[in-house]
Amino acid sequence: MTIHHHATDETLMRYAAGQLPAAPARVIDVHLSGCPACRARVEQFEALGGALLEQIEPAAMSPGAFAAVLRAIDATDEKITKTVSSLSSVGCARAPAMLPGGIGLPEALRDCEMGPWRWIGIGVRASVITLPEDSEARLMLLRVGAGRKLPEHGHFGTEFTQVLVGSFADEFGRYMPGDLSEMGHEIEHQPIVDQECECICLAALDGGMRLTGFFGRLIQPFVKL
Ligand SMILES: [Zn+2]
Repeated sequence: MTIHHHATDETLMRYAAGQLPAAPARVIDVHLSGCPACRARVEQFEALGGALLEQIEPAAMSPGAFAAVLRAIDATDEKITKTVSSLSSVGCARAPAMLPGGIGLPEALRDCEMGPWRWIGIGVRASVITLPEDSEARLMLLRVGAGRKLPEHGHFGTEFTQVLVGSFADEFGRYMPGDLSEMGHEIEHQPIVDQECECICLAALDGGMRLTGFFGRLIQPFVKL
């Protein structure tokens, strides 16, 4: 299976530096488990060492500093093959055991607690994932019916969505199992789940304290504010 949609370099750099909040970091954990290209990128960032990364506070990071780090990495970059994946394709009939029908969570979430599926809208259910390292982290599974069209929405903070089962499409492409959708706060999009089967995603917001967008309304009943 080919992964077409990856984490950005900025996200992977923050992940490597331990600067990503718990919930988005878990989404990246799951993505990395199936994406050799992003794993290789993280290893490169880690190899840069703590001294350099400590200087790259996201809030204070200038575009020039970020570009300089990327140039330093690319100077020693080995060619990354972005088409290799250890994940096998997951279709409707081969959904990984335990999500809807008693299946297990992805390996990277095995130490987490999965809440019950609850309806949060027409054709949309959600399950809150509680993380042992941060009980307040906002991580959730979204389960959206086949062919379901979600309202166009923007985000406050970056929205990370990792596809686990099924697929959806928006203005930026089609997202299959293993793909990661990383949507910045300035981006609006309208996801549509493909007709073949329902879609189950792992989703988190980074900096999503202002829960006023579509995603915010969805998770509002589940988060403690
Ligand atoms: Zn990737």
